[in-house]
Amino acid sequence: MASKKSGSFCSFCGKPKEEATMLISGIEANICDACVEQASKIVDVELGGVAKKRTSKETDFKINLPKPNEIKKHLDEYVIGQDQAKKVLAVAVYNHYKRVMHNPNNEGIEIEKSNVLMVGETGTGKTLLVRTLAKALKVPFCIADATVLTEAGYVGEDVESVISRLYQASDYDLEATQRGIVYIDEIDKIARKGDNPSISRDVSGEGVQQGLLKLLEGTVANIAPEGGRKHPDQKFVKIDTRNILFICGGAFNGIEKLIARRLNNSSVGFLTQGKERIKDINLIEQIAPTDLKSFGLIPEIIGRMPMITFLQPLDRDALKNILIKPKNALLKQYIKLMELEGITLDFDKKAIELIVSKAVEFKLGARGLRTICEKLMLDVMFDAPSKNDKAITITADMVVEKLADLDASKAA
Ligand code: ADP
Repeated sequence: MASKKSGSFCSFCGKPKEEATMLISGIEANICDACVEQASKIVDVELGGVAKKRTSKETDFKINLPKPNEIKKHLDEYVIGQDQAKKVLAVAVYNHYKRVMHNPNNEGIEIEKSNVLMVGETGTGKTLLVRTLAKALKVPFCIADATVLTEAGYVGEDVESVISRLYQASDYDLEATQRGIVYIDEIDKIARKGDNPSISRDVSGEGVQQGLLKLLEGTVANIAPEGGRKHPDQKFVKIDTRNILFICGGAFNGIEKLIARRLNNSSVGFLTQGKERIKDINLIEQIAPTDLKSFGLIPEIIGRMPMITFLQPLDRDALKNILIKPKNALLKQYIKLMELEGITLDFDKKAIELIVSKAVEFKLGARGLRTICEKLMLDVMFDAPSKNDKAITITADMVVEKLADLDASKAA
């Protein structure tokens, strides 16, 4: 029966071969890639997720896990500096996925989960690091902002909504969700106000920390698949958070003072020569769990983030490198955009220096760079497609002119 005609159409949706990405031929029928996907979803629903479990069971989970030094090398391609944070993350992620793939019954040693805490000013690359990691490992990833979370029952997003977002990011694959990575940003903003445990529970502070603690420790979260608020007659999906890696980040403004105070008070070690020495060391490198406690994180949550690392503020050199070096550096992106118009775009060395100076002035880390470049490039990108220029050079004079009215207060 397989006529010449039937050989070039999908027997399910009728799509011609030329319109399908792929057409698979059976004995008397063909199926296109879109219908294969659709059919797979129907099977999943009909079998209540059994089919998916069969293909991505926890024990089947074998990502091509790169070694810690390979992970760091990959991060180096996208993130400038921050060597310590890269090392800590590489080891944490490597151990985490080793643990997920390891069968505890073999040796009787259960490896505990190591969530990570990153402390560093805004715009120093915390989010970029985690995003780059998750992408490299091809695991589901989502970012949650701790400031919008509230205790269950209050106005705002309850803590479990974080898991719901991860579920969506995994395209509703339960097993993949259960070994994803969640980045919780601005964790410092839910610190208890003051180092006083007797302070009454506050909706957006300690209560949220308690909620997060459960997720970090490992719990079965009941989530509404579509996200949003839960209502009683809704079907919930149960997600086990034991193997989800939580990476938390925050600027912890003012924590240096707490570190300094602790170091000054300490009667041992290399600081005994007096307060003067404190100024010589990079305080953030000395961060310890007790400083986080003084800042207002509850001890239990600190205990669940055994790996603490820091990100250095970005100096002039780092900002310059960020502009030009990473695989998808900002200037490379503009050059690529112009290349698509058939235009060669170039930046004078002096122009680059001026952009960096402006970013230093803004004190927004690398975030300032984008604001500055968008302002600088707006006219060029507006005019270029309708002009016949084949080459454009951004000069120092252009930078001075375009950025004349850009002031730091508008850059955030
Ligand atoms: P944070 O999470 O620390 O506030 P982000 O990771 O969101 O900062 O950084 C904002 C943007 O600045 C990133 O998207 C990236 O373009 C750039 N950036 C920041 N730090 C770095 C870095 N160390 N290397 C390369 N780019 C960086």
